[in-house]
Amino acid sequence: MTTSFSNLSLADPLARAVAEMGYESMTPIQAQAIPVVMTGQDVMGAAQTGTGKTAAFSLPLLHRLLKHENSSTSPARHPVRALVLLPTRELADQVAEQIKLYAKYTQLRSAVVFGGMDMKPQTAELKRGVEVLVATPGRLLDHIEAKNAVLNQVEYVVLDEADRMLDIGFLPDLQRILSYLPKQRTTLLFSATFSPEIKRLAGSYLQNPVTIEVARSNETAANVEQRFYAVRDEQKRQALHQVLRTRGIKQAFVFTNSKLGCARLARALEHDGLRTAALHGDKSQDERLKALEAFKKGEVDLLVCTDVAARGLDIKDVPAVFNMDIPFNAEDYVHRIGRTGRAGASGLAVNFVGGNNDAKLVADIEKLIHKKIDVETLAFDEDRPRARHNEGHRLYERQGQERRERHAHGSEVPDRVFESRYSRPVRQVPRDPFFDQPYEAPSTDAAPSWEATVKPPSGARSISANIKPKRKVAALFSADAAPKVPVTVPATGPAALPTQPAQTGSDGLTD
Ligand code: AMP
Repeated sequence: MTTSFSNLSLADPLARAVAEMGYESMTPIQAQAIPVVMTGQDVMGAAQTGTGKTAAFSLPLLHRLLKHENSSTSPARHPVRALVLLPTRELADQVAEQIKLYAKYTQLRSAVVFGGMDMKPQTAELKRGVEVLVATPGRLLDHIEAKNAVLNQVEYVVLDEADRMLDIGFLPDLQRILSYLPKQRTTLLFSATFSPEIKRLAGSYLQNPVTIEVARSNETAANVEQRFYAVRDEQKRQALHQVLRTRGIKQAFVFTNSKLGCARLARALEHDGLRTAALHGDKSQDERLKALEAFKKGEVDLLVCTDVAARGLDIKDVPAVFNMDIPFNAEDYVHRIGRTGRAGASGLAVNFVGGNNDAKLVADIEKLIHKKIDVETLAFDEDRPRARHNEGHRLYERQGQERRERHAHGSEVPDRVFESRYSRPVRQVPRDPFFDQPYEAPSTDAAPSWEATVKPPSGARSISANIKPKRKVAALFSADAAPKVPVTVPATGPAALPTQPAQTGSDGLTD
């Protein structure tokens, strides 16, 4: 199979954009999917973000839409021809940005709509006409209901991160959206895994799809050093400081299992004097985009986040990932540590193994990644004999000494110049009992937090609050529960469903 873009006969404006991006050869998902999508066939692709899948579907899709390209200012000449659906705002934004780059030398218009933002500018953009619309399901339905988006000329629909959309409970919204689209169309579905629910979704909405599978979802990159440390919950923050300092880490993702834990930790680290931003579902859209931007620019050192918030985010060169909580789902572990060691760079994944159920969760990870995990003891600096202080700590002490000497000589250079970010000692703050509380991981029995925060559905979107997330999916596949869109797959009882609750990483971070 060829891996050179030049053999694809991509239209010139697209080939030019690809060359400008500096892509030398196709990634495996691109090499397999692009020729298939070019022929208009449906695709069911197992590929994660980071594999180049956005280009894999958008380049051939744009190529085929070029026949509609025109410079007319009339909105009627720019109907929505391709719809790309994603589970979260950040992913929608990221994919839309990439599509804009690929289409920059064409006259095809693209736009993105997601919740948490004022509808007016989105409405104005939609009314001007766009060929490629990237959206999260909830906000798209709002625009459909407001008659801002007309989808009867859609030729392509992409269901991206489909497994996560189902986990979040978007199935009813997807069914409604798909019911507005012409039957004659190309449907592309991408998912990290082909679970039974995904297969049923594909069975209902894809026609003779070509199945493409790249990189198994349980692979962890060989260039990521994975460390597991046994640390008591109340010492995790101290452990984080220590590893940052001793390893000289400048930027990192810090994962927690809950929104509450995320907000608390971010606040505490900020108090400690670290430049920290939190990324979770209770943050406003504006705050989240700003946090991401600041992290990308290097203005923020630690991005404390939950799984859904961070899933698929393509931020290059993050040197380390910390798991303050071991994720409930082993697959989320693979996603989390996939944030580091990208594009061949070496990365570090540090995991703090506490009490509760962590030993079992670590065993699950071990099983999934087929690697033996050694849980080490982390010796805290104050526990170590001085002779064993490592280089990072010596540097920390030396800088402190230099600072003291300069002060003694009346230097006007401010303190911080002599402090590397992580060599800064933890700032003494007034005691706040809030931070003395042990770090709280959510109980596995608790209802998923997004159950409480997902926008209450209305009309055809409605579903009993008593049905657990995975069951919702099953129930909705049954003939009774999906009245608007006939689903041909037979009803499946809960017994056939995975027993693991779908709570991990689902933190209400939808639109
Ligand atoms: P994606 O999986 O689509 O989110 O892409 C992940 C990253 O890979 C993005 O930053 C893309 O710009 C980049 N990328 C996509 N295709 C290629 C390619 N063929 N060569 C190098 N980088 C690529």
